[in-house]
Amino acid sequence: MKSLSLQTSSIAASMTVSIDTLAKKLKAEGKDIVSLGAGEPDFKTPEIIRNAAKEAIEQGKTKYVAPTGLEEVRKAVAHKLQKENGLSYSANQIVLTSGAKQAVFNSLAALINPDDEIIIPAPYWVTYPELVKWFKGIPVFIETTPESAFKITPEQLKNAITEKTKAVILNNPCNPSGAVYSPKELKALSEVIVDNDLFCISDEIYEHFCYETEFASIASFAGMYERTILINGFSKSHCMTGWRIGYNALPETIAPLITKIQSQAIHHPSTPAQYGALAALKSDNSFVFNMRDTFKIRRDLLRSKISETLGKQLPNPEGAFYLFVPVQELYGKVTPNGKVISDSISFCSYLLESFGLAIIPGKAFGMDSCIRFSYAASEETLLEASKRFELGVKSLK
Ligand code: PMP
Ligand code: GLU
Repeated sequence: MKSLSLQTSSIAASMTVSIDTLAKKLKAEGKDIVSLGAGEPDFKTPEIIRNAAKEAIEQGKTKYVAPTGLEEVRKAVAHKLQKENGLSYSANQIVLTSGAKQAVFNSLAALINPDDEIIIPAPYWVTYPELVKWFKGIPVFIETTPESAFKITPEQLKNAITEKTKAVILNNPCNPSGAVYSPKELKALSEVIVDNDLFCISDEIYEHFCYETEFASIASFAGMYERTILINGFSKSHCMTGWRIGYNALPETIAPLITKIQSQAIHHPSTPAQYGALAALKSDNSFVFNMRDTFKIRRDLLRSKISETLGKQLPNPEGAFYLFVPVQELYGKVTPNGKVISDSISFCSYLLESFGLAIIPGKAFGMDSCIRFSYAASEETLLEASKRFELGVKSLK
């Protein structure tokens, strides 16, 4: 047989997805698993959204539509961006996608020529570097630390820029660190981006999950609108992970290219899911804000439990719904079965195999010294996970 695509073979599968799939499979087999693995809110999709999609199906609204998606949904997205983010887009600048993940794919497909450098602050969401490599670009990482609240500075950004730099990916609030850039910090970064004539891919999927710092879109700063590809969606804010619906908001110059990609690659996201998204956009967001308030309580609970076990105060994640925990001091210790914990992968494997606790190794996000817990889970689950984590840590010698 002839060989398969070398380009596609060379990229890694998503570790967040594979651990989530494994945890769900083990659970279905009856194993006693507690998963704080994937970033997936535990609440049901709100009823008005479920009903809107059901109604659409009943009314036969199940046909092909334009590759950018239904115009009334795109208009509603444009209205949201104006009202909540102060950004003026026409419906023609909005492209509905199969989840925000596909909006990331579209953005990189539209920008990258071979050997273009794409700057990615680390820790980063698993998918960014692999998709950059898939399009023959070069991911260039900027390292952050818990001491810098996992944020990059304008100086770091300046130093990472070369003649080959095409774009910066900014995920604000950040998965996995929970870092949130303040409007002042965003302004300073935007000045470097504008001065160096770069594009910015701004992944804002966690925008509603800001607990202390006010959210601002980097597209709203001077000179940024025309160079920002905005990504957002409904998976997190409206508990619609399985619906696969998100969007790109685009400068007029880029919208036609992404529309073309969609027309050839997926045509458009599921039509009933678009009607569900329309109901979400028309709702008053009280559901989202209630969920945010609940997540804040859960964050504080999990953070205090894990801090207690590790005997140190953990960094405070100001956004998203992840606790990113430095655990390097445990590396080198030995499990009751005689295995050495050498990195975040061996630590997370040990917790899953011996205690049925699924969490994600920091290595997946480019920071091996840490592990990631999702706190988008019930208090009961968080307490059980904390108990298992404590047992796991205390059993190491
Ligand atoms: N961006 C980030 C930062 C994410 O954590 C996720 C997780 N799902 C996505 C994009 C993709 O979201 P979706 O489920 O809408 O594809
Ligand atoms: N984004 C979520 C996470 O980081 C879901 C899985 C994925 O798409 O990566 O866990």
